[in-house]
Amino acid sequence: MQPTPQAAEPVVSDPNETWHPDDAFWGKLSGFGMACSSRSWNVAIQSEEQLSKVFESVSKAGGCINLRGSGASYGDANINTNQIVVDCTPMNEIESWDPETGLIRVQAGVTVEQVWRHVIADGYWPPVVSGTMTPTIAGALAMNIHGKNCYAAGTLGEHVVALRVLVPSGDVIECGPDKNGDFFRAVIGSYGMLGCILSATLRLKPIQTGQVEVTAYRTPNLAQMFDVFAKNVEQPYLVGWIDAFAKGDGAGRGIVHVARHLRADEVSNAAATLQPSAQELPGRLFGILPKSWMWRLLKPFSNRAGMRLINAVKYRSCSGRAEGKTHRESLGAFNFLLDFVPNWRFVYRPGGFIQHQSFVPADHAQEVFTQTLALARQYGMPPYLAVFKRHRTDAFLLSHGVDGYSLALDFAINNRSRGRIIDLTSEIDQLVVSAGGRFYPAKDATLHAEDYRRSLPDHSYTSFKTLKAQTDPHNILQSDLYRRLFQGGPMNPGILQDG
Ligand SMILES: Cc1cc2nc3c(=O)[nH]c(=O)nc-3n(C[C@H](O)[C@H](O)[C@H](O)COP(=O)(O)OP(=O)(O)OC[C@H]3O[C@@H](n4cnc5c(N)ncnc54)[C@H](O)[C@@H]3O)c2cc1C
Repeated sequence: MQPTPQAAEPVVSDPNETWHPDDAFWGKLSGFGMACSSRSWNVAIQSEEQLSKVFESVSKAGGCINLRGSGASYGDANINTNQIVVDCTPMNEIESWDPETGLIRVQAGVTVEQVWRHVIADGYWPPVVSGTMTPTIAGALAMNIHGKNCYAAGTLGEHVVALRVLVPSGDVIECGPDKNGDFFRAVIGSYGMLGCILSATLRLKPIQTGQVEVTAYRTPNLAQMFDVFAKNVEQPYLVGWIDAFAKGDGAGRGIVHVARHLRADEVSNAAATLQPSAQELPGRLFGILPKSWMWRLLKPFSNRAGMRLINAVKYRSCSGRAEGKTHRESLGAFNFLLDFVPNWRFVYRPGGFIQHQSFVPADHAQEVFTQTLALARQYGMPPYLAVFKRHRTDAFLLSHGVDGYSLALDFAINNRSRGRIIDLTSEIDQLVVSAGGRFYPAKDATLHAEDYRRSLPDHSYTSFKTLKAQTDPHNILQSDLYRRLFQGGPMNPGILQDG
């Protein structure tokens, strides 16, 4: 077990001493999980020129900048305690779209939602999407997001044709798989620490309909979940949900959803399914209750007993489906399940929650995830939500990809878990590192610098540091995550102590 780090010391004790743009406002920002938050000088940028000036001023005056998209990373990647945070969302134009080639060029702040809405009627869909449609494309590339099809389609970075990146020197680097390739493979997945992605050209995926056929399999334990994944690996989409409260013979039980795109000859009106309106998530539950009320209805269950019950009910809802039961869903409903309940994260108020996602090579994954789930139970902190996915390796420098599986666990931060969660995640991290696994900075809030370093190949770690020193000699691009993972900086106080 590693020593618990002290609560965060601010980077600069007096924020008034930090240079900041005139129109910046001093305010609190948090990661999506709400457990990590801090105050910073926050400024929205509208243009490349404006950002260039901010880079130049900070290089001269000292201090540092973090770039921010929609703020959908769970932990401390999108905050920058007492320093400057640049909001890239106003740069949100779709610059070009060509339905002949499927190539779209978008500015940094264009969201996944904007992309699919723009292209679906032409018979296209983003090749990789996250469980929410809110991320910006630049934020998604800065983390190199994966979807439920990662083992088949890879990460979003694998579908990028070209990028324009503003580096702290003020230069704009144009790069792609075949142009400045080393920089391209480094900047994707480098969580905004090498430069600002100004625009990206992506190759989208042709689709014949806006629907998928989904088959649900009940898996009575973890071994059977692995079996169902192995049997369906030829299918384009696979995702597993695990009831992390179950123990004994049922430990790791859950439900696997397998999906494939429906062809035009399989639906009655293919063109109608390709209208954005056919992808809207229903606004009401059971046609009556406004969805916006749902998190309030769930709130009383936001404790161990309540979540144990919800997980058990969810598992039973799929009983009798061991052989698989098939239904049809819109692409929106299948991919963006987590957007179905607006503000569901408020269920975790006031302390918020963290997500811990570990990636483990196939040979060790079952053993590591069995131990992980057992550890969480031993600590008395079973995750309220656990999601299982299949992955593959990729060529990006700080890749989190492995030829194996990932397990993402949502842990509530409350008086019971605060402080102790670090002991638990630290123990899990040792299992993951020993098995040759990786971690995902978009979800991380507790990883220690030493474990992060051990999880990466030596050449990746050192090449990244060399490149960072070259492109950002004054170290003006920083985040709380970067300081924690590369400089042994502190964890956010919200995880360590109340208030
Ligand atoms: C409900 C939910 C479900 C999710 N499901 C998945 C999933 O299935 N798969 C998955 O991979 N991820 C998933 N995520 C995580 C999410 O996709 C990533 O965290 C993504 O990076 C968020 O994008 P953002 O625009 O919100 O960026 P932010 O969270 O604001 O920032 C993320 C990183 O991008 C950097 N950045 C922002 N703008 C720029 C820029 N212009 N240039 C360079 N760097 C920049 C920031 O510095 C930061 O390091 C999920 C998140 C949520 C909330």
